[in-house]
Amino acid sequence: MNAHVSQGGWPVLVLNADFRPLSYYPLSLWSWQDAIKAVFLDRVNIVEHYDRAVHSPSFEIQLPSVVSLKSFVRPTTHPAFTRFNVFLRDRFVCQYCGLDGSLSFSAWLSLSEDHLLPKGHPRRNEPAFRVTACQFCNVSDNHYFAHASKRGLAFDNLSPEQLVAQRKPFVEAVRAKYHEFWQAKVASSGLQSRK
Ligand SMILES: [Zn+2]
Repeated sequence: MNAHVSQGGWPVLVLNADFRPLSYYPLSLWSWQDAIKAVFLDRVNIVEHYDRAVHSPSFEIQLPSVVSLKSFVRPTTHPAFTRFNVFLRDRFVCQYCGLDGSLSFSAWLSLSEDHLLPKGHPRRNEPAFRVTACQFCNVSDNHYFAHASKRGLAFDNLSPEQLVAQRKPFVEAVRAKYHEFWQAKVASSGLQSRK
């Protein structure tokens, strides 16, 4: 197929046969290539399309933007507590620095799910101990658990709120160091004036 659109763009929202999203982000988004394959295999109906077509010598097809499955996929009766549910519960706000992921698309993209308990802890995967964190605050936790074990900080018998509060000063100290670096190397380099 001689496509005149980029590989990465033109995402397609996939609806179940009952027209509800198949699952929450990112599983209900397909690439346009996968969506067109599914159209040819007769597995989906096109609900809406982009104002854009792809061509081959023998056919032209408009890029779908929304498709619905022809056969209904039964949702699990006990859906896993997904990352999206974690974000939703926390209202898309980083629990450490307060970054609000609902304010812009790039802020939303920077959200991640953060574990309050170290690897190997029996309660690590419980929803209550998974919180929304921006990527910066989440990355600093790789070092946090090492730091915490050196200092003998406890994880047992603390509420999720207490665990967040216990970690906050560490995240803030890491942020301050990065800020210093940014001021010294980036802000003073004149990069900004070149915008
Ligand atoms: Zn943050």
